[in-house]
Amino acid sequence: MSKKVVILGAGLTGLSTAYHLQNGYTVPYSIYEKSGHIGGLACSRKIDGFVFDCDGHLLHFKTEYVKKLINKLLPGVLDVHQRNAWIYSRDVYTKYPFQANTFGLPAAIIKRCILGILKAKSRKKNRPEATLSDWLKEKFGKGITKYFMYPYNLKFWTVPPEQLIPDWTKDYVPLVGIREVINGAFSLKTKALGYNSRFWYPKRGGIDQIADAFTPRINNIKTQHKVTELDLKSKTVCFNNGKTAAFTHLVSTIPLVELKDIIVNKIPTKVKDAFYGLKYISIFNLNLGINREKVSDKHWIYYPEDKFSFFRLGFPMNFSDNVTPKGKSSVYVEVSYSDSKPLQGNGLEKKIHNDLIQAGILRPEDKIMTQQTNDIKYGYVLYDHNYKHNVKTIIDFLKQNNIYPAGRCGAWKYMSMEDAICEGKSVSELITNGG
Ligand SMILES: Cc1cc2nc3c(=O)[nH]c(=O)nc-3n(C[C@H](O)[C@H](O)[C@H](O)COP(=O)(O)OP(=O)(O)OC[C@H]3O[C@@H](n4cnc5c(N)ncnc54)[C@H](O)[C@@H]3O)c2cc1C
Repeated sequence: MSKKVVILGAGLTGLSTAYHLQNGYTVPYSIYEKSGHIGGLACSRKIDGFVFDCDGHLLHFKTEYVKKLINKLLPGVLDVHQRNAWIYSRDVYTKYPFQANTFGLPAAIIKRCILGILKAKSRKKNRPEATLSDWLKEKFGKGITKYFMYPYNLKFWTVPPEQLIPDWTKDYVPLVGIREVINGAFSLKTKALGYNSRFWYPKRGGIDQIADAFTPRINNIKTQHKVTELDLKSKTVCFNNGKTAAFTHLVSTIPLVELKDIIVNKIPTKVKDAFYGLKYISIFNLNLGINREKVSDKHWIYYPEDKFSFFRLGFPMNFSDNVTPKGKSSVYVEVSYSDSKPLQGNGLEKKIHNDLIQAGILRPEDKIMTQQTNDIKYGYVLYDHNYKHNVKTIIDFLKQNNIYPAGRCGAWKYMSMEDAICEGKSVSELITNGG
């Protein structure tokens, strides 16, 4: 039987799947997207001369493949930047990442950070760390954990690190040696560590150009098609506009947790339980246009302390000269929330504004010229202790039915834009090579 691929969702994973099916393998496909535009999380909006992405979206390249592909699709469009990222706590700025940059903090804290990592490194390791909390102490020692890692992770994930596993850390939390910790205790001149030590951003316009660059090379994108039913037996999907589509293979990049509500067939109890066990945190993103130049000279800043409502701020005008009107600034504010720590509804924007003044970013006389919000329901999947079991149970079941969950929400994993593009390539290869 000849293959017919249906792709649900036109974010970067869906677009990359289509691109690779069309440009490598010529397998017939259609993409269906619920909204009126493509790009998913990697979208941008232009308002009053400000370009706002859906929260901060910077490109990092781990693979030559994606770097080459993006440069082919968008020749000369991206600029590369050396990260200028900081942490603000105890009224002091320290360079990111904290574990290699305690310079500026009180001497007693620096001492505890150094002694802590020395002790951790000299300890014999018997077994892998079961919780994120154990992992942090094992890798960084008690000082670094106490003064940054624990409070920041608690604030970001909204649940104590004891309830989480460290499986997502490999690509995102750089490890350090003693030499780096000691250098960074005495000087600001330290080695740039981690996956995001450099980043790429368009010279003009927003991050949506990446998704847009795929479209001329792809056919059959149908927007305003929200999938509402999935029949595993007849291999058909139905949309909210009454249309249907049949498939031999279905690539689903829509949130994994939502499949339980649209599968019309009876699903085994253990799979149902696994679906109900999936957890996530949401991100409330407030984008602000400010009537003053350079409210900060930094790219982004982490805020581990609870007195600030946000866990991070970023400054798009420092990624590109062309995302704010001349002489103005923009800030993206990120607040995480979940069932464990609901969003403070009324008055949140006022609190954010006050906190921006408290943090020394805004002045009381600054004017907010424009603002835009993105309430991102599935911000980050929560790596709790049932995560691996639940995701495996669901994905095994779906694959038996020729459903290929892919992407950040689709495959339910911590993923970058580059990872999403790679994921599209992998899934297209899997399907083409006999999947
Ligand atoms: C707050 C935040 C900040 C981030 N920052 C960065 C960063 O700085 N750098 C980086 O590289 N990555 C970043 N990422 C990750 C990056 O955005 C994602 O990895 C990537 O965009 C995921 O693409 P995707 O196609 O898998 O998912 P999505 O972009 O979520 O696409 C899924 C698509 O499915 C559609 N859809 C949903 N339900 C249905 C339905 N029922 N029917 C039809 N269509 C449906 C959606 O509308 C959407 O278009 C960030 C993510 C978040 C949440």
